[in-house]
Amino acid sequence: MTSIVVVEDEADIAQLLALYLGNEGWTVHLADDGETGLAAIRARNPDFVVLDIGLPGNMDGFEVCRELRRTSEVPVLFLTARDDEIDRILGLEIGADDYVTKPFSPREIVARVKAVLRRGAQKFEAGRTTFGVVDINTDRHEVTVDGEVVDVAAQEWALLESLVANQGTVLSRQQLLDLAWGVDWIGDPRTVDVHVRQLRRKLGDDLPLVTIRGAGYRLG
Ligand code: CA
Repeated sequence: MTSIVVVEDEADIAQLLALYLGNEGWTVHLADDGETGLAAIRARNPDFVVLDIGLPGNMDGFEVCRELRRTSEVPVLFLTARDDEIDRILGLEIGADDYVTKPFSPREIVARVKAVLRRGAQKFEAGRTTFGVVDINTDRHEVTVDGEVVDVAAQEWALLESLVANQGTVLSRQQLLDLAWGVDWIGDPRTVDVHVRQLRRKLGDDLPLVTIRGAGYRLG
């Protein structure tokens, strides 16, 4: 059974996460400061860690993650409340697998946890990539949501395929243009934004297509 440790000092947020993550059938253990969190992670050896950055006591989320990374590769999703924290996550390569900015919807957290867990579980399934109800089949050139085939335009498909091929990697707009439109294509990089919006609209919340501020986009 999948187990998750949530390290979050705001009780209402922690309870909400426990509820939503528990509804997925996952075992959730809560800790409300860095030291307790680190001890809980070491004792329980969970499949996943949700880690708030701003924590009371001597260890913030960054320090917990740094300590953790000495001995563990467990996936970590950071909860962040401030822009400068995001800069540190992106700049220091602190060993986070993803992050979510407060305020967030619990559904978003669930989708992110699933995406990260699946990324680990799914490496050997060639030609097929699944995020929640979204199933992308690059062999068949087909994408379904909840089993229903979704009509995506050729350029949207090219963009999606490029993102799938580079899952987990941040791609700039220019890189995406080169990959999906071809290096000879001359046009506005904002074209990428338009197509990203279309993909999000058509494929819904389960598609973990993340905007990385000032950098580009990342799938998963
Ligand atoms: Ca906090």
